[in-house]
Amino acid sequence: MKINVDWDRCTGMGMCESLAPDVFEVDDDGSLIVHAEEVPEGMESDVREAVAACPTEALSLEGE
Ligand code: SF4
Repeated sequence: MKINVDWDRCTGMGMCESLAPDVFEVDDDGSLIVHAEEVPEGMESDVREAVAACPTEALSLEGE
């Protein structure tokens, strides 16, 4: 399962980081860093929650 980010939509709010901190990180400048292109094993539900919680719908999953 691959993580897609619509960079035009991401506003660096960090909801994704709070739900799946091993995968998503917002740096001091408010820029999102995605640590894994593919969802790591065992992190599927956290990542799904993060995708659903993104207020700007910037995140999506490919290969669901
Ligand atoms: S929750 Fe959405 S808008 Fe906020 S940092 Fe994550 S991807 Fe970007």
